Amino acid sequence: MSHYVNIISEKVKTEADIKRAKEMLWSYGEEDCERNSDGQGGLSSRPVWENRTFESYDEACDYLAAHSGFYWIGGCFAKVYQKNAKAEDVKKRIAEAKENLADYVKKADCKNFKSAKVGCPNCGSNLNKNYVKLLTYSQPCPLCGTDLFSKTVQENIKSKRAKIADLEKKLEKSCNTKKYDTYLLFKYEFHC
Ligand SMILES: [Zn+2]
Repeated sequence: MSHYVNIISEKVKTEADIKRAKEMLWSYGEEDCERNSDGQGGLSSRPVWENRTFESYDEACDYLAAHSGFYWIGGCFAKVYQKNAKAEDVKKRIAEAKENLADYVKKADCKNFKSAKVGCPNCGSNLNKNYVKLLTYSQPCPLCGTDLFSKTVQENIKSKRAKIADLEKKLEKSCNTKKYDTYLLFKYEFHC
């Protein structure tokens, strides 16, 4: 002696699909009820089709399940977002480009050079390498702030950063065009 609650669904695209899905889901529930109900309560009323669309399948199920216990039968729509393959690919490329840049900066650190001292081209200081900090994108002279990286290294860092910024723009764009399928969900309930 219990209530049997079930939620079934059908992918829909057009108005015709929706009409067909409503009939199909309803008759599936009706057959299920005829076969398995003990006759103490079932699909006696016509379904309430709500013109509501939830942002996920789970949210729609939660909404329908909340109507349990009263033999309420009906349905609503849910969006099911497709996995965004392009965005995943761009994300991977961004991670790789960032790793590549970090490696490049680490290698350009003057501490990797053989000489114990490094000269600043701007203020002329002859610096002890241990006092020259490596920042994320530069290695400034502790006295005047001039970047001690060579012009070539600076240019390379600049172009690597520009490439990352481009990819990030691309990612934003592909995230804005999220694709989804629409499902019509149907909840029914009977006594068994
Ligand atoms: Zn300097």
